[in-house]
Amino acid sequence: MTGTVVRSTGSWYVVRFEDGSTMDCRIKGKFRIQGIRSTNPVAVGDVVEVEPEEERGVITEIHDRRNYIVRRSVNLSKKTHILAANLDQAILVVTVAQPKTLYGFIDRFLATCEAYDVPAVMVFNKVDIYDEDQMAELDYMEAAYGRAGYETLETSAIEGFNIDAFEELLKGKTSLIAGHSGVGKSTLINRVEPDLDLRTNRISDAHGQGQHTTTFAEMFPLSIGGDIIDTPGIRGFGLIDMEKEEIGDYFPEIFELKGECKFHNCLHLEEPGCAVKEALDNGKLAPTRYQSYFWMVTGNEDDNPYRQDNY
Ligand code: GDP
Ligand code: ZN
Repeated sequence: MTGTVVRSTGSWYVVRFEDGSTMDCRIKGKFRIQGIRSTNPVAVGDVVEVEPEEERGVITEIHDRRNYIVRRSVNLSKKTHILAANLDQAILVVTVAQPKTLYGFIDRFLATCEAYDVPAVMVFNKVDIYDEDQMAELDYMEAAYGRAGYETLETSAIEGFNIDAFEELLKGKTSLIAGHSGVGKSTLINRVEPDLDLRTNRISDAHGQGQHTTTFAEMFPLSIGGDIIDTPGIRGFGLIDMEKEEIGDYFPEIFELKGECKFHNCLHLEEPGCAVKEALDNGKLAPTRYQSYFWMVTGNEDDNPYRQDNY
């Protein structure tokens, strides 16, 4: 039987079948998956073959992944942890205030999506509470990320602003929902799917099955069609095995300029004739985007001559 993994605890998996029924499953044997070393062989979103055994099932095969997204393993080994597989998009919920989402976090997240071929959409929530300065920053962010090619949407989950557009975004797709705690992910989802409260799911996880479960993703079906993948602990989301030479490829607007740099292997740091630095000086590249790039390539933020306050 073919099904989709909707929940994983590390040793147990819940697989959902086409008729909507689910079955607890374990895995048998060793899976070597597409050349990556990961702490979890099977991830939420994986399409698997299941052989039923009494009430439980055995996962015998994992279908090739269309894409997958990873984070660094919690045990600090070199191994990675696959957060989720077979995503149509990642929706990053961002707030300019209460709490303010940091640029470094956003840009690292987006670069990771680029690296793993997952389209990213940005939802700017809580627009009902922003003061003038925060509205100006929202404009800056929408311009910066729009220029980089990302779809953006302003919402207020509380006031119901743009919830129809948010719903349209989710419809029929498998969406990973990400963003810091408190940005309004649960409230937004709850607006579209009133019976689904990600918050209570997270809380019951933490109490019911030990803290390790909070690092695993879970997939929830939507009645409008499609699925939401919630990833508790998204904070730890980071870049894996990314060479500094390739980081520029994961900033679409920097990648676009690469061919115009004097040196083909330009890292856009101190090299002469750099088209990226030129774009930055001419206001055609958002300073915060360059700042994140600089930090990801050098690992050093203090020396960045383009450093912005309020980053
Ligand atoms: P999550 O941790 O990302 O799931 O965030 P929650 O959905 O739990 O929301 C955190 C807090 O922000 C709650 O008190 C919500 O009521 C509030 N909140 C969510 N969306 C909005 C919004 O659009 N505007 C305002 N003012 N508050 C919001
Ligand atoms: Zn350059």
